[in-house]
Parts: sequence; C-alpha cells; structure tokens
Amino acid sequence: MDLGTANTIIICNGKIVVDEPSVVALDRRTDKVLAVGEKARQMHGKTHENIRTIRPLRDGVIADFYAAEQMIRGMIKMINPKSRWFTPSLRMVVCIPSGSTEVELRAVRDSAEHAGGRDVYMIYEPMAAAIGIGIDVEAPEGNMIVDIGGGTTGDDLTADIMEYMRRQHNVKVGERTAEMIKINVGSSLTSLENPPEDYVVHGPNQMTALPMEVPVSYQEIAHCLEKSISKMEAAILSALEQTPPELYADIVRNGIYLAGGGALMRGLDKRLTDKIGIAFHVAEDPLHAVAKGTGVALKNIDKFNFLIR
Ligand code: ADP
Ligand code: MG
Repeated sequence: MDLGTANTIIICNGKIVVDEPSVVALDRRTDKVLAVGEKARQMHGKTHENIRTIRPLRDGVIADFYAAEQMIRGMIKMINPKSRWFTPSLRMVVCIPSGSTEVELRAVRDSAEHAGGRDVYMIYEPMAAAIGIGIDVEAPEGNMIVDIGGGTTGDDLTADIMEYMRRQHNVKVGERTAEMIKINVGSSLTSLENPPEDYVVHGPNQMTALPMEVPVSYQEIAHCLEKSISKMEAAILSALEQTPPELYADIVRNGIYLAGGGALMRGLDKRLTDKIGIAFHVAEDPLHAVAKGTGVALKNIDKFNFLIR
C-alpha cells in the first residue's frame, strides 16, 4: 500500500487493485464514514454542513489519525467488497515518507493492523520508488530519486495557481480547478517544444460575482510556478551537496530519477538537467512507481533486510 498525501494505491498479487485520491468524507455528528476515495473527493468543497471531507495526510505525514485509519479501512474494503476483512494470512507492506518519526511509523502500523493487516512491514518511499523504477537497490551503487508527490510540493504549486488566478485574473478558483490548471497547462519552462493549448477556466469574478471565462496559457503558469520550482532545485542541490563523493560520481553517471505525480510537470526534466548538469529521467509511470516497488518488496520480504518490522 502506497499511502500518499494525494493518492492511495494498493497492489495485490502484483496488480493495482485500488487507486484512489486520499480523501475521506465523515459525518460531523457521528464521525461515521460516508465515502472514501474518488467519491469523497467529488464531495470536497461541495458538502453541506454535516459532512466534512478530509485529506488525512498532509506534508507527507498523518495529520488526522482517526480519518487516516477510516480511510485505510475503506480502501482495503474496496479490494474485496464482499468480505469485510482481509483473509488472516495476508501480509502487507506499507510505505512511509523517509522523514517519518517513530510515532508516525507506529500510527501507520496500528492503522494497518486495525484495518485487518496481519503481518505488517514498512518501507521508506524513496526506496520503494527506486525498486519500482527497476534499480538494483542491493548493488553497491549510488542512485538518487526525487519523489514529487502531493504533500511535499504538489499542494504548494496548486496554492500558487489559486493565488495567481485571484490576483492576476480576478477570478476565484477552488483547489480542484487549480489542480486541473496545473495538470493541463502546468509548465516549468516558459518555452516548450510541444506546448499545450490554453485551458479555459470558468469562475466568479471576485468583485462582481458575475461569471467569467478565462483562458490560461502555459507561459503564465510557468511564471507563476517559478518560485516554487526554484525551491525544488535548491532542495535537490542541497541533497547533492551532502552526498559523499563516491556516491556522487555514481549519480552523475546514472542520472537522477523523478517519480511521483509532480514528475509529469511539463519541462521539469529538461529544466533540471540544464540547471544542475546531471541527466534527469522521468520514471516510467511516475504516479505508480512507489506502489510498484512496494509490491516487489512484498514478494521479497525475506530478502530485503531494509524493510521495517
Ligand atoms: P502522493 O504520493 O503525495 O499521493 P502522487 O505521487 O500521487 O502524490 O502525486 C500527486 C500530485 O501530482 C498531485 O499534487 C497532482 O496534482 C500532481 N500531478 C498529477 N499529474 C500531474 C501532471 N500531469 N502535472 C503536474 N502535476 C501533476
Ligand atoms: Mg507518493
């Protein structure tokens, strides 16, 4: 199970069986679960006062333990809607952000066990991504993975776009629309070889509340994301600075892999390659690299000694 801040993915017997946004909708009065995943996301920003939609993971960690557990349960139920529980023999590997504290680690384990997992192992996300990409992680060789998920960077980019649309175009857009702008015309370069068509946004004028139609170009979004993308560059450079020289040499030779949904941002690999002078490769299927690697780890529980019990 890849328990991401944006998406939760479950791989069972090598197949993706659940791929849903990490959202849960709860009844405010009773705390009962009303919907999980895509259904809950559709309610987001549209609920009446007795329903709250929650993203239990923020900044890569569990922000709401109760909601997280309910979400994990709901997602596990989706695997086999007929049986309420896992069959008792099922083992589980859950991946966790590399900066997780002891407390967070325990919270994830407890939630997984409460949700029916029996034999729960954990793996750090960048390690899972490396395995998913196909890197031999047992070889004595340095590799670098940059995982750009929702909580670490994606949410910041979306917030930049909301703010930009308000300031520049006087139009109010919600989180979902801002994310659609990011996916449709998001770019880290102001000049692209295969530019996307403008994306038309409908929303209320901030001042008059009258409906507006605003075409958005990739160039303006590239400008609006400039600051946050520079921060990513700085973070990558700082990680490289702390890398021991032998590993550094391996990384220069192998290049650096981009994983997570943010790796799909137009022009990002080219921009980073030019800026840093090391080749950047976008993982094949970056949204699923972590989950795939977690699936491989499950098959190698006895061999991979870096899994956490
Ligand atoms: P997490 O591991 O935190 O759940 P993911 O790896 O699933 O995150 O990536 C989700 C993030 O990727 C979201 O912020 C989403 O908006 C972003 N994303 C998805 N597709 C694209 C795209 N084509 N361009 C830019 N960002 C994208
Ligand atoms: Mg992730």
